[in-house]
Amino acid sequence: MCGIVGYLGSRDAFPILIKGLKRLEYRGYDSAGVALISQTNHLNVYKVKGKVSGLEQVTEREDTSGTIGIAHTRWATHGEPSQVNAHPHVSASGQLALIHNGIIENYNVLKEKLEKKGYTFKSSTDTEVLVQLIDYIKESGKLDLLTAVRLALREVIGAYALAILDHNDPDQIIVARKSSPLVIGIGENEFFIASDATPIVEFTDKVVYLEDEDIAILRRGEPLKVVDFSNVELNLEVQTIELNLGQLEKGGYPHFMLKEIVEQPDCIQDCMRGRLHVEDNNVILSAIIDHKEKLIHAKRFIIIACGTSWHAGLIGRQLIENYCRIPVQVEYASEFRYSNPVVGEGDVVIAISQSGETADTLAAVELARNRGAFIYGICNAVGSSIPRSTDTGSYIHVGPEIGVASTKAFTGQVTVLAMLALTLATVKGSISESELKEILEEFQAIPEKMKKALETNDQIASLSKIFTYARNFIYLGRGYNYPVALEGALKLKEISYIHAEGYPAAEMKHGPIALIDTEMPVVVIATQNSLYEKLLSNVQEIKARKGRVIAIVSEGDDTISKIADYCIELPKTVEPLDPLLTTIPLQLMAYHIAVCKGKDVDQPRNLAKSVTVE
Ligand code: GLU
Repeated sequence: MCGIVGYLGSRDAFPILIKGLKRLEYRGYDSAGVALISQTNHLNVYKVKGKVSGLEQVTEREDTSGTIGIAHTRWATHGEPSQVNAHPHVSASGQLALIHNGIIENYNVLKEKLEKKGYTFKSSTDTEVLVQLIDYIKESGKLDLLTAVRLALREVIGAYALAILDHNDPDQIIVARKSSPLVIGIGENEFFIASDATPIVEFTDKVVYLEDEDIAILRRGEPLKVVDFSNVELNLEVQTIELNLGQLEKGGYPHFMLKEIVEQPDCIQDCMRGRLHVEDNNVILSAIIDHKEKLIHAKRFIIIACGTSWHAGLIGRQLIENYCRIPVQVEYASEFRYSNPVVGEGDVVIAISQSGETADTLAAVELARNRGAFIYGICNAVGSSIPRSTDTGSYIHVGPEIGVASTKAFTGQVTVLAMLALTLATVKGSISESELKEILEEFQAIPEKMKKALETNDQIASLSKIFTYARNFIYLGRGYNYPVALEGALKLKEISYIHAEGYPAAEMKHGPIALIDTEMPVVVIATQNSLYEKLLSNVQEIKARKGRVIAIVSEGDDTISKIADYCIELPKTVEPLDPLLTTIPLQLMAYHIAVCKGKDVDQPRNLAKSVTVE
């Protein structure tokens, strides 16, 4: 959500900033802006409502010189998306320019205070209040910028990643963070600032991740300095990142989303690497082995997540309860954190987040930890906030996910949850050798079977044309495939803006069946498993009401395929691993329908990739 980029060094800052903003576009935004101190020592600020390409256009004939600059893509929280609300915001003195990701919760109180001092505001943002507050403290106390920033942040309640520059000091950028991510790249006599490492990787692999309440001083010709709010110098570890540029580019695909759907077999292979040992009939997630006593004796597991990760969590519950016989509860992080939950010693909280920065999940983790729970993180972005604040955890290792609608991260999360359940069941002795063997052999075959599932792409592309103009969709599944139905409906909503509902198939009779008519497409996940006969009845109920059934079935199905209007065949696998295959046609269908409708697949309206505000 929102992107911050900054540069200080000897190169032209502007192209680096623009490229960086483009790399962060996947996070979602509504306006963009940049501030540079020019060669002739002017503070130039350019802002647009809309895309980074629009910012490039308006700056074509402008002075974009300078070796120091900050840039931003905004995802509005306070004040509509507009040019005046876009960042950077400039202080009343005209000297300070600030970009900010997050929310200043007490902005109203601070604004009233500043208005009494004679400050006026051009925008409706909380961010402008912050820059004026820093300006006020600096000017009234005749203080240097660092001191003013430190004192201002002590007054601020909320979340922020920010970067600020001072027209009077073209050799320095100050950055700070609390609850919003910020990374600093360290090159040869140059610094890069970004919300995540993606804009930095092509310049340097040396990075420092700021922690909460860190303030970093980037000064030309000097090493990076980081202090806390009391100006005590801190020693932050310089880390080496392993991202490569190829992972951040589309590689010939028209959209990141399609690329990410297609790369799932390789991603799952990477996720299983070194963990699945079929020849020894063993699966090892090291975090489980390292903490086995605590985990085996857990009173219960509480999975907390949002959106797609929450759907993965629902599958995780079935896996853990089924194989480990430990009770599991799945909670929306946003509800959990404000529900005064009963959680404490003996509970294990599993926090799932692709970005590792989801604000609600992070806050829920803090709450659970403060109450004594043991925290296990399942994330994709290495070095992000959630992995840094948990007791242990496992990365899903599927590589950067750029498309806003999550695809490979979902199958990666399900894969890790399955390995987690099986590792724990093995150490607990709650699974038999033969059952484990059957699942592990199937697990190993999943990447190949995923490739087969991807071969349905052309069939789904033509099917999608038929349903492009549908106004509603229902998705039905049972057991392990019920969360897949929810996820399929979410994908369609996210990128094609068609209203879609996911239901456990048997629930249909309790209400949604009233919606079925000739206009209603119903996607039924009806692969060969223990609930197949039940799903057959559900399909018959829909057909009796003239609904149009798109059935996801197993290869060779000769019953449902005769009744359904359209059938998509998938390879068979064992029930707990079925979601890894059944998800694929639903991802492809959402993708193709959105493409047919001419929607912006990778950056759907109103959505952000990592939801770093609550
Ligand atoms: N709260 C700020 C605004 O609405 C920053 C939003 C963002 O993170 O982009 O301008």
